[in-house]
Amino acid sequence: MVGRRPASRIVEHPRIWLHFTLQVSLVVVIFVAGLYLGVFMRDRNLIKDQILVNARSHFQSIVLTRLWSAGYGGVYVEKKKGVESNPYLKDPEVVARDGRVFTLRNPAMMTREVSELAAADGAFLFHITSLRPVNPGNAPDEFETAALKSFELGAPEAWGEETRGDATLFRYMAPLVVEPACLHCHSERENRVGDIRGGISVTLDISDVKAAMGTSHAVILGLVAFSTAGVIGVFLLFVLRLMRRLTAADAKIAMLAVTDELTGLANRRAFFERFEEEADRAGRYGTPLSLVMFDIDHFKAVNDTFGHPMGDTVLTEVARLLSANARTSDILARYGGEEFAMLIPAMSCEEAARAAEKLRTVIEVNDPVLEGPRVKVTISAGVADAASVRSEGGSLRDNLLKAADRALYRAKAEGRNRVVTHRRGMDAQLDLE
Ligand code: GH3
Ligand code: MG
Ligand code: MG
Repeated sequence: MVGRRPASRIVEHPRIWLHFTLQVSLVVVIFVAGLYLGVFMRDRNLIKDQILVNARSHFQSIVLTRLWSAGYGGVYVEKKKGVESNPYLKDPEVVARDGRVFTLRNPAMMTREVSELAAADGAFLFHITSLRPVNPGNAPDEFETAALKSFELGAPEAWGEETRGDATLFRYMAPLVVEPACLHCHSERENRVGDIRGGISVTLDISDVKAAMGTSHAVILGLVAFSTAGVIGVFLLFVLRLMRRLTAADAKIAMLAVTDELTGLANRRAFFERFEEEADRAGRYGTPLSLVMFDIDHFKAVNDTFGHPMGDTVLTEVARLLSANARTSDILARYGGEEFAMLIPAMSCEEAARAAEKLRTVIEVNDPVLEGPRVKVTISAGVADAASVRSEGGSLRDNLLKAADRALYRAKAEGRNRVVTHRRGMDAQLDLE
Protein backbone atom coordinates (compact mmCIF):
# COMPACT_ATOMS: atom_id res chain seq x y z
CA MET A 1 0.00 0.00 0.00
CA VAL A 2 3.00 2.30 0.49
CA GLY A 3 6.62 2.70 -0.40
CA ARG A 4 8.62 3.19 -3.51
CA ARG A 5 12.36 2.92 -3.40
CA PRO A 6 14.64 3.29 -6.42
CA ALA A 7 16.19 0.00 -7.51
CA SER A 8 19.95 -0.14 -7.31
CA ARG A 9 21.98 1.28 -10.17
CA ILE A 10 23.35 -2.04 -11.38
CA VAL A 11 19.92 -3.61 -11.83
CA GLU A 12 18.27 -0.55 -13.31
CA HIS A 13 20.85 0.05 -16.00
CA PRO A 14 21.05 -2.79 -18.52
CA ARG A 15 23.81 -0.88 -20.31
CA ILE A 16 26.18 -1.70 -17.45
CA TRP A 17 25.45 -5.38 -18.09
CA LEU A 18 25.73 -4.90 -21.82
CA HIS A 19 29.15 -3.27 -21.46
CA PHE A 20 30.26 -5.92 -19.00
CA THR A 21 29.08 -8.72 -21.30
CA LEU A 22 30.70 -7.11 -24.34
CA GLN A 23 33.98 -6.64 -22.54
CA VAL A 24 34.07 -10.20 -21.28
CA SER A 25 33.04 -11.47 -24.73
CA LEU A 26 35.86 -9.48 -26.29
CA VAL A 27 38.35 -10.95 -23.84
CA VAL A 28 37.00 -14.45 -24.58
CA VAL A 29 37.21 -13.90 -28.36
CA ILE A 30 40.77 -12.59 -28.08
CA PHE A 31 41.78 -15.39 -25.76
CA VAL A 32 40.22 -18.21 -27.80
CA ALA A 33 41.36 -16.75 -31.14
CA GLY A 34 44.87 -16.23 -29.71
CA LEU A 35 44.95 -19.77 -28.43
CA TYR A 36 43.95 -21.27 -31.77
CA LEU A 37 46.15 -18.86 -33.69
CA GLY A 38 49.08 -20.01 -31.56
CA VAL A 39 48.31 -23.66 -32.30
CA PHE A 40 47.83 -22.88 -35.99
CA MET A 41 51.11 -20.95 -36.27
CA ARG A 42 52.98 -23.68 -34.43
CA ASP A 43 51.59 -26.33 -36.78
CA ARG A 44 52.34 -24.22 -39.84
CA ASN A 45 55.91 -23.63 -38.71
CA LEU A 46 56.38 -27.33 -37.96
CA ILE A 47 55.14 -28.23 -41.45
CA LYS A 48 57.38 -25.59 -43.03
CA ASP A 49 60.36 -26.85 -41.04
CA GLN A 50 59.56 -30.37 -42.17
CA ILE A 51 59.44 -29.31 -45.82
CA LEU A 52 62.73 -27.45 -45.41
CA VAL A 53 64.39 -30.47 -43.82
CA ASN A 54 63.08 -32.56 -46.70
CA ALA A 55 64.48 -30.17 -49.30
CA ARG A 56 67.84 -29.98 -47.49
CA SER A 57 68.16 -33.74 -47.38
CA HIS A 58 67.43 -33.96 -51.13
CA PHE A 59 70.09 -31.37 -51.73
CA GLN A 60 72.51 -33.20 -49.50
CA SER A 61 72.02 -36.54 -51.26
CA ILE A 62 72.62 -34.92 -54.64
CA VAL A 63 75.79 -33.27 -53.37
CA LEU A 64 77.02 -36.59 -51.96
CA THR A 65 76.30 -38.40 -55.23
CA ARG A 66 78.13 -35.68 -57.12
CA LEU A 67 81.05 -35.95 -54.72
CA TRP A 68 81.17 -39.68 -55.28
CA SER A 69 81.23 -39.13 -59.03
CA ALA A 70 83.73 -36.26 -58.85
CA GLY A 71 85.95 -38.44 -56.66
CA TYR A 72 86.43 -40.71 -59.71
CA GLY A 73 86.66 -37.80 -62.11
CA GLY A 74 83.27 -38.78 -63.47
CA VAL A 75 82.18 -42.29 -64.47
CA TYR A 76 81.92 -43.95 -67.85
CA VAL A 77 78.64 -45.39 -69.04
CA GLU A 78 78.19 -47.62 -72.04
CA LYS A 79 77.05 -45.64 -75.02
CA LYS A 80 74.05 -47.72 -75.90
CA LYS A 81 71.30 -46.63 -78.20
CA GLY A 82 69.89 -43.27 -77.06
CA VAL A 83 72.90 -42.42 -74.90
CA GLU A 84 74.52 -39.18 -76.05
CA SER A 85 77.97 -37.92 -75.19
CA ASN A 86 78.38 -34.66 -73.31
CA PRO A 87 79.10 -32.06 -76.01
CA TYR A 88 80.86 -29.81 -73.47
CA LEU A 89 83.56 -32.37 -72.69
CA LYS A 90 86.71 -32.87 -74.67
CA ASP A 91 87.10 -36.51 -75.83
CA PRO A 92 84.38 -37.98 -73.64
CA GLU A 93 84.36 -41.40 -75.35
CA VAL A 94 86.57 -44.47 -74.93
CA VAL A 95 86.40 -47.76 -76.81
CA ALA A 96 86.80 -51.02 -74.96
CA ARG A 97 88.87 -53.94 -76.31
CA ASP A 98 85.69 -55.73 -77.18
CA GLY A 99 84.61 -52.74 -79.29
CA ARG A 100 81.95 -51.33 -76.93
CA VAL A 101 81.94 -47.52 -76.64
CA PHE A 102 81.84 -45.83 -73.22
CA THR A 103 81.16 -42.14 -72.71
CA LEU A 104 82.07 -39.99 -69.70
CA ARG A 105 79.35 -38.84 -67.36
CA ASN A 106 80.84 -35.96 -65.41
CA PRO A 107 79.01 -34.85 -62.17
CA ALA A 108 77.19 -31.97 -63.94
CA MET A 109 75.69 -34.23 -66.56
CA MET A 110 74.95 -36.96 -64.06
CA THR A 111 73.10 -34.38 -61.96
CA ARG A 112 71.06 -33.24 -64.96
CA GLU A 113 70.13 -36.79 -65.93
CA VAL A 114 69.17 -37.73 -62.36
CA SER A 115 67.06 -34.56 -62.21
CA GLU A 116 65.23 -35.65 -65.37
CA LEU A 117 64.54 -39.04 -63.75
CA ALA A 118 63.27 -37.31 -60.58
CA ALA A 119 61.04 -35.03 -62.67
CA ALA A 120 59.62 -38.02 -64.57
CA ASP A 121 58.97 -39.74 -61.27
CA GLY A 122 57.15 -36.62 -60.06
CA ALA A 123 58.80 -36.81 -56.64
CA PHE A 124 60.73 -33.58 -56.88
CA LEU A 125 62.82 -31.47 -59.22
CA PHE A 126 66.31 -30.29 -58.87
CA HIS A 127 68.44 -28.12 -61.00
CA ILE A 128 72.16 -27.42 -61.06
CA THR A 129 72.93 -23.95 -62.21
CA SER A 130 75.21 -20.98 -61.81
CA LEU A 131 75.28 -17.31 -62.70
CA ARG A 132 77.80 -18.25 -65.45
CA PRO A 133 76.66 -21.67 -66.73
CA VAL A 134 78.84 -23.56 -69.19
CA ASN A 135 75.65 -25.00 -70.73
CA PRO A 136 73.23 -22.14 -71.55
CA GLY A 137 70.38 -24.62 -70.98
CA ASN A 138 71.32 -24.61 -67.29
CA ALA A 139 70.68 -20.84 -66.91
CA PRO A 140 69.08 -19.96 -63.52
CA ASP A 141 65.46 -18.84 -63.26
CA GLU A 142 64.33 -15.83 -61.25
CA PHE A 143 64.38 -17.56 -57.83
CA GLU A 144 67.70 -19.23 -58.54
CA THR A 145 69.30 -16.00 -59.75
CA ALA A 146 68.26 -14.20 -56.55
CA ALA A 147 69.47 -17.14 -54.45
CA LEU A 148 72.84 -17.32 -56.24
CA LYS A 149 73.34 -13.60 -55.73
CA SER A 150 72.56 -13.98 -52.04
CA PHE A 151 75.16 -16.81 -51.80
CA GLU A 152 77.78 -14.44 -53.18
CA LEU A 153 76.88 -12.13 -50.31
CA GLY A 154 77.39 -14.97 -47.84
CA ALA A 155 73.90 -16.47 -47.43
CA PRO A 156 74.21 -20.22 -46.67
CA GLU A 157 70.90 -21.18 -48.33
CA ALA A 158 67.68 -19.73 -49.72
CA TRP A 159 64.09 -20.88 -49.92
CA GLY A 160 60.61 -19.63 -50.72
CA GLU A 161 57.21 -20.51 -52.12
CA GLU A 162 56.02 -20.08 -55.64
CA THR A 163 52.73 -20.62 -57.44
CA ARG A 164 52.79 -22.20 -60.84
CA GLY A 165 49.35 -22.70 -62.33
CA ASP A 166 47.32 -24.51 -59.68
CA ALA A 167 50.41 -25.87 -57.97
CA THR A 168 52.24 -24.42 -55.01
CA LEU A 169 55.96 -25.11 -55.11
CA PHE A 170 58.56 -25.00 -52.40
CA ARG A 171 61.87 -23.79 -53.76
CA TYR A 172 65.11 -24.48 -51.99
CA MET A 173 68.62 -23.70 -53.04
CA ALA A 174 72.08 -24.01 -51.52
CA PRO A 175 75.49 -23.22 -53.01
CA LEU A 176 77.80 -25.77 -54.56
CA VAL A 177 81.23 -25.34 -53.03
CA VAL A 178 84.36 -26.42 -54.89
CA GLU A 179 85.67 -29.59 -53.25
CA PRO A 180 89.16 -31.05 -53.93
CA ALA A 181 87.47 -33.75 -56.05
CA CYS A 182 86.07 -31.09 -58.38
CA LEU A 183 89.62 -30.12 -59.38
CA HIS A 184 89.90 -33.41 -61.35
CA CYS A 185 87.93 -31.74 -64.13
CA HIS A 186 87.80 -28.02 -63.30
CA SER A 187 91.03 -26.13 -63.70
CA GLU A 188 92.81 -25.16 -60.53
CA ARG A 189 93.56 -21.76 -62.02
CA GLU A 190 89.90 -20.80 -62.19
CA ASN A 191 88.66 -22.70 -59.14
CA ARG A 192 89.85 -22.80 -55.60
CA VAL A 193 88.61 -25.21 -52.97
CA GLY A 194 85.84 -23.42 -51.01
CA ASP A 195 84.78 -21.22 -53.95
CA ILE A 196 81.09 -21.10 -54.80
CA ARG A 197 80.67 -22.53 -58.29
CA GLY A 198 76.92 -22.28 -58.46
CA GLY A 199 74.11 -24.01 -56.69
CA ILE A 200 71.54 -26.75 -56.80
CA SER A 201 67.91 -25.85 -56.46
CA VAL A 202 65.35 -28.35 -55.19
CA THR A 203 61.69 -27.87 -56.04
CA LEU A 204 58.97 -29.72 -54.14
CA ASP A 205 55.30 -29.68 -55.04
CA ILE A 206 53.57 -28.82 -51.77
CA SER A 207 50.07 -28.30 -53.21
CA ASP A 208 48.66 -31.18 -51.13
CA VAL A 209 50.24 -29.85 -47.95
CA LYS A 210 48.88 -26.39 -48.74
CA ALA A 211 45.41 -27.78 -49.35
CA ALA A 212 45.58 -29.70 -46.06
CA MET A 213 46.73 -26.52 -44.29
CA GLY A 214 43.83 -24.63 -45.86
CA THR A 215 41.41 -27.25 -44.57
CA SER A 216 42.94 -27.15 -41.13
CA HIS A 217 42.75 -23.35 -41.28
CA ALA A 218 39.02 -23.58 -41.98
CA VAL A 219 38.58 -26.16 -39.21
CA ILE A 220 40.44 -23.92 -36.77
CA LEU A 221 38.31 -20.91 -37.75
CA GLY A 222 35.22 -23.03 -37.23
CA LEU A 223 36.52 -24.16 -33.84
CA VAL A 224 37.28 -20.55 -32.85
CA ALA A 225 33.75 -19.50 -33.81
CA PHE A 226 32.19 -22.53 -32.14
CA SER A 227 34.12 -22.35 -28.88
CA THR A 228 33.77 -18.57 -28.69
CA ALA A 229 30.02 -18.84 -29.24
CA GLY A 230 29.89 -21.62 -26.64
CA VAL A 231 31.85 -19.73 -24.00
CA ILE A 232 29.93 -16.50 -24.64
CA GLY A 233 26.65 -18.41 -24.59
CA VAL A 234 27.45 -19.97 -21.23
CA PHE A 235 28.61 -16.62 -19.94
CA LEU A 236 25.42 -14.93 -21.16
CA LEU A 237 23.34 -17.56 -19.43
CA PHE A 238 25.33 -16.96 -16.28
CA VAL A 239 24.88 -13.18 -16.58
CA LEU A 240 21.16 -13.55 -17.21
CA ARG A 241 20.76 -15.79 -14.18
CA LEU A 242 22.85 -13.42 -12.11
CA MET A 243 20.75 -10.48 -13.33
CA ARG A 244 17.56 -12.29 -12.46
CA ARG A 245 18.88 -13.07 -8.97
CA LEU A 246 20.14 -9.54 -8.47
CA THR A 247 16.85 -8.12 -9.65
CA ALA A 248 15.01 -10.37 -7.20
CA ALA A 249 17.45 -9.52 -4.40
CA ASP A 250 17.16 -5.85 -5.24
CA ALA A 251 13.38 -6.03 -5.18
CA LYS A 252 13.58 -7.82 -1.85
CA ILE A 253 15.94 -5.21 -0.42
CA ALA A 254 13.68 -2.45 -1.76
CA MET A 255 10.69 -4.19 -0.19
CA LEU A 256 12.46 -4.75 3.15
CA ALA A 257 13.47 -1.10 3.28
CA VAL A 258 9.85 -0.01 3.31
CA THR A 259 8.27 -2.95 5.12
CA ASP A 260 7.87 -3.77 8.76
CA GLU A 261 9.41 -7.20 9.20
CA LEU A 262 6.94 -8.55 11.76
CA THR A 263 3.61 -7.43 10.33
CA GLY A 264 4.41 -6.97 6.65
CA LEU A 265 2.84 -3.52 6.75
CA ALA A 266 4.63 -0.40 5.56
CA ASN A 267 7.16 0.78 8.10
CA ARG A 268 7.38 4.20 9.69
CA ARG A 269 9.92 5.43 7.14
CA ALA A 270 7.76 4.52 4.14
CA PHE A 271 4.74 5.96 5.89
CA PHE A 272 6.45 9.32 6.38
CA GLU A 273 7.47 9.41 2.72
CA ARG A 274 3.85 9.02 1.63
CA PHE A 275 2.67 11.32 4.39
CA GLU A 276 4.92 14.10 3.04
CA GLU A 277 3.46 13.67 -0.45
CA GLU A 278 -0.15 13.56 0.72
CA ALA A 279 0.28 16.47 3.16
CA ASP A 280 1.90 18.45 0.37
CA ARG A 281 -1.01 17.73 -1.98
CA ALA A 282 -3.64 18.46 0.65
CA GLY A 283 -1.87 21.69 1.67
CA ARG A 284 -1.54 22.86 -1.94
CA TYR A 285 -5.03 22.02 -3.22
CA GLY A 286 -6.95 22.19 0.05
CA THR A 287 -8.21 18.61 -0.39
CA PRO A 288 -9.29 16.63 2.68
CA LEU A 289 -6.74 14.40 4.38
CA SER A 290 -7.40 12.39 7.51
CA LEU A 291 -5.11 10.54 9.85
CA VAL A 292 -6.12 7.74 12.22
CA MET A 293 -3.76 6.51 14.92
CA PHE A 294 -4.59 3.08 16.35
CA ASP A 295 -3.15 1.65 19.55
CA ILE A 296 -3.77 -1.80 20.97
CA ASP A 297 -5.33 -1.57 24.40
CA HIS A 298 -3.43 -3.00 27.33
CA PHE A 299 -1.00 -4.73 25.05
CA LYS A 300 1.63 -4.88 27.73
CA ALA A 301 -0.70 -7.19 29.62
CA VAL A 302 -0.87 -9.53 26.61
CA ASN A 303 2.89 -9.79 26.63
CA ASP A 304 3.03 -10.19 30.37
CA THR A 305 0.30 -12.82 30.47
CA PHE A 306 0.96 -14.89 27.34
CA GLY A 307 4.57 -14.10 26.54
CA HIS A 308 6.29 -12.03 23.93
CA PRO A 309 5.86 -14.53 21.03
CA MET A 310 2.11 -14.49 21.61
CA GLY A 311 2.31 -10.68 21.65
CA ASP A 312 3.96 -10.88 18.22
CA THR A 313 1.20 -13.14 16.95
CA VAL A 314 -1.43 -10.69 18.17
CA LEU A 315 0.40 -7.79 16.52
CA THR A 316 0.63 -9.67 13.23
CA GLU A 317 -3.03 -10.66 13.32
CA VAL A 318 -4.23 -7.16 14.21
CA ALA A 319 -2.14 -5.82 11.30
CA ARG A 320 -3.63 -8.43 8.96
CA LEU A 321 -7.20 -7.59 10.02
CA LEU A 322 -6.62 -3.85 9.66
CA SER A 323 -5.01 -4.29 6.27
CA ALA A 324 -7.72 -6.67 5.01
CA ASN A 325 -10.50 -4.27 6.02
CA ALA A 326 -8.89 -1.00 4.95
CA ARG A 327 -9.40 0.35 1.45
CA THR A 328 -6.57 -0.01 -1.03
CA SER A 329 -6.26 3.78 -1.21
CA ASP A 330 -5.69 3.97 2.55
CA ILE A 331 -2.10 4.24 3.60
CA LEU A 332 -1.67 1.89 6.52
CA ALA A 333 1.58 1.43 8.42
CA ARG A 334 3.00 0.12 11.65
CA TYR A 335 3.83 3.36 13.36
CA GLY A 336 5.54 2.03 16.47
CA GLY A 337 5.44 -0.90 18.89
CA GLU A 338 1.69 -1.63 19.06
CA GLU A 339 0.60 1.48 17.21
CA PHE A 340 -0.69 1.69 13.66
CA ALA A 341 -1.25 4.77 11.54
CA MET A 342 -3.68 5.09 8.67
CA LEU A 343 -3.63 8.04 6.31
CA ILE A 344 -6.85 8.49 4.36
CA PRO A 345 -6.58 10.89 1.42
CA ALA A 346 -9.67 12.79 0.25
CA MET A 347 -11.65 11.90 3.33
CA SER A 348 -13.08 14.19 6.02
CA CYS A 349 -12.82 13.62 9.75
CA GLU A 350 -16.35 12.17 10.04
CA GLU A 351 -15.83 9.66 7.22
CA ALA A 352 -12.42 8.73 8.59
CA ALA A 353 -13.94 8.20 12.05
CA ARG A 354 -16.52 5.86 10.49
CA ALA A 355 -13.75 3.91 8.76
CA ALA A 356 -11.82 3.76 12.04
CA GLU A 357 -14.93 2.61 13.91
CA LYS A 358 -15.38 -0.18 11.36
CA LEU A 359 -11.82 -1.34 11.94
CA ARG A 360 -12.19 -1.08 15.70
CA THR A 361 -15.24 -3.35 15.49
CA VAL A 362 -13.42 -5.82 13.28
CA ILE A 363 -10.65 -6.15 15.89
CA GLU A 364 -13.13 -6.39 18.74
CA VAL A 365 -15.18 -9.18 17.20
CA ASN A 366 -12.29 -11.23 15.87
CA ASP A 367 -10.11 -13.33 18.07
CA PRO A 368 -6.56 -12.70 16.95
CA VAL A 369 -5.31 -16.02 18.32
CA LEU A 370 -7.25 -18.95 16.89
CA GLU A 371 -5.32 -21.73 18.52
CA GLY A 372 -4.29 -21.69 22.15
CA PRO A 373 -5.48 -19.33 24.90
CA ARG A 374 -8.27 -16.91 24.15
CA VAL A 375 -6.74 -13.45 23.93
CA LYS A 376 -9.19 -10.62 23.89
CA VAL A 377 -7.87 -7.65 21.95
CA THR A 378 -9.35 -4.22 21.42
CA ILE A 379 -7.94 -1.08 19.89
CA SER A 380 -8.43 2.62 20.47
CA ALA A 381 -8.22 5.20 17.71
CA GLY A 382 -7.64 8.93 17.44
CA VAL A 383 -8.81 10.68 14.28
CA ALA A 384 -7.80 14.08 12.94
CA ASP A 385 -8.16 15.77 9.59
CA ALA A 386 -6.39 18.55 7.76
CA ALA A 387 -9.33 20.95 8.10
CA SER A 388 -9.25 20.78 11.91
CA VAL A 389 -5.54 21.72 12.15
CA ARG A 390 -5.13 23.99 9.12
CA SER A 391 -5.29 27.19 11.18
CA GLU A 392 -2.37 26.04 13.33
CA GLY A 393 1.14 27.09 12.41
CA GLY A 394 3.87 24.58 11.50
CA SER A 395 3.72 21.68 9.13
CA LEU A 396 0.45 20.00 8.29
CA ARG A 397 2.04 16.62 8.85
CA ASP A 398 3.23 17.40 12.38
CA ASN A 399 -0.05 19.07 13.26
CA LEU A 400 -2.04 16.09 12.04
CA LEU A 401 0.17 13.68 13.97
CA LYS A 402 -0.16 15.74 17.12
CA ALA A 403 -3.93 16.09 16.75
CA ALA A 404 -4.51 12.38 16.08
CA ASP A 405 -2.27 11.54 19.02
CA ARG A 406 -4.28 13.83 21.28
CA ALA A 407 -7.50 12.20 20.14
CA LEU A 408 -6.00 8.76 20.77
CA TYR A 409 -4.94 9.86 24.22
CA ARG A 410 -8.49 11.00 24.83
CA ALA A 411 -9.83 7.59 23.64
CA LYS A 412 -7.57 5.85 26.12
CA ALA A 413 -8.58 8.24 28.85
CA GLU A 414 -12.27 7.67 28.12
CA GLY A 415 -11.97 3.95 28.67
CA ARG A 416 -10.30 2.51 25.54
CA ASN A 417 -11.84 0.40 22.76
CA ARG A 418 -13.25 3.50 21.12
CA VAL A 419 -12.66 6.06 18.38
CA VAL A 420 -12.25 9.72 19.29
CA THR A 421 -12.17 12.54 16.77
CA HIS A 422 -9.94 15.51 17.33
CA ARG A 423 -11.69 18.76 18.07
CA ARG A 424 -10.28 22.22 18.32
CA GLY A 425 -9.55 23.04 21.92
CA MET A 426 -8.88 19.41 22.76
CA ASP A 427 -5.19 20.18 23.21
CA ALA A 428 -5.87 22.94 25.70
CA GLN A 429 -8.33 20.75 27.51
CA LEU A 430 -5.84 17.94 27.75
CA ASP A 431 -3.17 20.32 28.92
CA LEU A 432 -5.45 21.32 31.75
CA GLU A 433 -6.17 17.74 32.81
P1 GH3 B 1 -2.47 1.17 26.54
O1 GH3 B 1 -3.77 0.53 26.49
O2 GH3 B 1 -2.43 2.39 27.42
O3 GH3 B 1 -1.91 1.43 25.22
O4 GH3 B 1 -1.51 0.15 27.28
P2 GH3 B 1 -0.41 -0.71 26.60
O5 GH3 B 1 -0.01 -1.80 27.55
O6 GH3 B 1 -0.85 -1.21 25.30
O7 GH3 B 1 0.73 0.32 26.39
P3 GH3 B 1 2.21 0.35 26.83
O8 GH3 B 1 2.85 1.50 26.09
O9 GH3 B 1 2.31 0.37 28.33
O10 GH3 B 1 2.83 -0.99 26.35
C1 GH3 B 1 3.07 -1.30 25.00
C2 GH3 B 1 3.75 -2.60 24.96
O11 GH3 B 1 3.90 -3.08 23.64
C3 GH3 B 1 5.11 -2.57 25.57
C4 GH3 B 1 5.97 -3.33 24.65
O12 GH3 B 1 6.71 -4.36 25.27
C5 GH3 B 1 5.01 -3.95 23.66
N1 GH3 B 1 5.56 -4.07 22.37
C6 GH3 B 1 6.04 -3.10 21.57
N2 GH3 B 1 6.50 -3.65 20.43
C7 GH3 B 1 6.31 -4.99 20.50
C8 GH3 B 1 6.57 -6.08 19.61
O13 GH3 B 1 7.07 -5.94 18.51
N3 GH3 B 1 6.21 -7.33 20.03
C9 GH3 B 1 5.66 -7.53 21.25
N4 GH3 B 1 5.35 -8.76 21.60
N5 GH3 B 1 5.43 -6.54 22.10
C10 GH3 B 1 5.72 -5.27 21.73
MG1 MG C 1 1.24 2.51 22.66
MG1 MG D 1 -1.30 0.19 23.81
